[in-house]
Amino acid sequence: MPGNGIQLTDGDITTLAVEGIVNAANNALLGGGGVDGAIHRGAGPELLTQCRTLGGCPTGEARITRGYNLPAAWVIHTVGPVWRSGVQGEPELLARCYRSCFSLAREYGLRSIAFPAISTGVYGYPKEEAARIAVREARQALAKNETLTSIIFVCFNSATRLAYQKALAEPSGTQRSA
Ligand code: ADP
Repeated sequence: MPGNGIQLTDGDITTLAVEGIVNAANNALLGGGGVDGAIHRGAGPELLTQCRTLGGCPTGEARITRGYNLPAAWVIHTVGPVWRSGVQGEPELLARCYRSCFSLAREYGLRSIAFPAISTGVYGYPKEEAARIAVREARQALAKNETLTSIIFVCFNSATRLAYQKALAEPSGTQRSA
């Protein structure tokens, strides 16, 4: 992937030749629909075998596995919050997902990482608010981690792309903390 910093790309995260891709998983870490299903299909059955050894993952945390048949060497599985009107700590939980992923990226020395729009599919998180959190955490990670040079947000649809474009157009200082 050429370029540094934060980039947007359209399409399917499983095709990206980055060092790590993030999976919007569920608490069981045993596969599911949406991006989770696509990642398991792309990686092949060995991914599920490794995931079975992990014992699940609480919401807001992340676990790392190999990427197997994917172009990406690593998959970071994180579990986003289900949107319940935003009154049950969803913004903090979503921010924690990103921080947990960046923490593993740092630990494993990843230089490039791609994210789907965590929680904004079946889990129903509003896209614009989720994008603002993603962009804020990505900016902080780039500022703190010298090894990480490329963060890619994968836009699976035009509404997701618009949400990221809007968030990226906002200066970092105007973003509220979760
Ligand atoms: P969640 O349960 O966290 O909401 P979903 O998989 O339902 O997870 O959706 C998360 C985001 O991933 C959504 O924006 C969805 O459009 C997107 N998505 C689904 N499949 C893919 C894919 N193959 N590559 C990238 N993004 C995807």
